[in-house]
Amino acid sequence: MPQYLSTQGRVPPVSLQQALVDGLAPDGGLYVPDTVPPLPSNWRDASSFAALAQEVLAPWLENEISGYEAALRDALDFPVPLVALENAAWDGVHVLELFHGPTLSFKDFGARTMARLVARLRSDTTDPLTILVATSGDTGSAVADGFAGLPGIRVVLLFPAGQVSEVQQRQLVAPRAGVTALRVEGTFDDCQRLVKAAFSDPELKALTLSSANSINIGRLLPQMLFYVEAVRQGGFGEVVFSTPSGNLGNLTGGVLASLAGLPVRRFIAAHNANRFFPDTLAGCEVEMGASVRTLSNAMDVGAPSNFERLGALLGDRLSAMIWGTSVSDDETLAAMRRVYEATGYVACPHTAVGLEGALRYRAATGDRTPVVVMATAHPAKFPEVVEQALGVAPDVPETLARLPRAEGHAITIPPTPAALCAILLA
Ligand SMILES: *Cc1c(COP(=O)(O)O)cnc(C)c1O
Repeated sequence: MPQYLSTQGRVPPVSLQQALVDGLAPDGGLYVPDTVPPLPSNWRDASSFAALAQEVLAPWLENEISGYEAALRDALDFPVPLVALENAAWDGVHVLELFHGPTLSFKDFGARTMARLVARLRSDTTDPLTILVATSGDTGSAVADGFAGLPGIRVVLLFPAGQVSEVQQRQLVAPRAGVTALRVEGTFDDCQRLVKAAFSDPELKALTLSSANSINIGRLLPQMLFYVEAVRQGGFGEVVFSTPSGNLGNLTGGVLASLAGLPVRRFIAAHNANRFFPDTLAGCEVEMGASVRTLSNAMDVGAPSNFERLGALLGDRLSAMIWGTSVSDDETLAAMRRVYEATGYVACPHTAVGLEGALRYRAATGDRTPVVVMATAHPAKFPEVVEQALGVAPDVPETLARLPRAEGHAITIPPTPAALCAILLA
């Protein structure tokens, strides 16, 4: 059973339980497992995604979290289809649709799993837990939905007024048991600042606060499953993965799967104009910096938090295993059009970055190994971009159609710690 080391190396290794509660290690580092247990020998024979999840995650979770089997069953209860693009130009390219969960992005897998694991850990305390999340998009609704209705847990979600899309806003303010949505009159950075301030506010000492951001190991481990599931469904001997990336959490899940023995030939880190990682892989000396805004906004990350983890896991094998590329907004729109015209497939702008990455990789290397592109969000989450690219609106899935159009249940607050404090103590 793995122990978890901090990438900063200044604290002793901890158990999974502790890493889940801490999120960030006390020395400011990210937790990485000290060993990667191999995939179970019979993983290709699993009868379903749910069965595969139990098999693959057992060595990580057994003896750490009692009842993890039920937690996984409950968290991972939606389909994960692998779609082959049937067209000469896209021959051997597949899309793994990770957007059939309740909030229509791949973040549902990590958020729902982490929520249920944390709830198991807290099942014998009566002390309620408050989860704070600052969000500019997909994370907030996935976390709110993942934790909603779990006993002893409340979620307080902060988003910047007027800076999320219409669909995102509807998802954020949807009424959910145990969830309070706060519309902050400020920017995303203000939201993050308020969350940080709450953790050190003496007036809030009596509350048990936690965050559920993407660096938590509990969100990372289930993301290994995407990669194993793609190979199980496709029956591939060897495979290349193209992952639309921002903070590199999804890709880190893939790297864990490959270290566990999955036959991965290469990973493609497909980024938008936020090109720190592809530039670094290409050997350029670049610095992390501010993000730039793009059409694939869930990937607008200037300083990818999981970069440190990838370095710790792969060392100098990093650029041998990962091929990077950066796709502009115009190229993203062109890729959406190209795949739609050739195959009828409607991709969200994030997925389109991954599709373009797959074609570029093939052109640059001549490698014809089957490619699986991670389809990270449902196109209906980005109707304006889809219309702009294709001239048609995406089909709206039922989960979205059911959400009320109204302002919802959000409370508007000024961007001050006192305002958040008042809500938390109310
Ligand atoms: C969060 C997100 C990404 C980026 O994933 P990382 O794990 O941060 O690299 C890509 N696409 C969508 C739709 C997302 O919500």
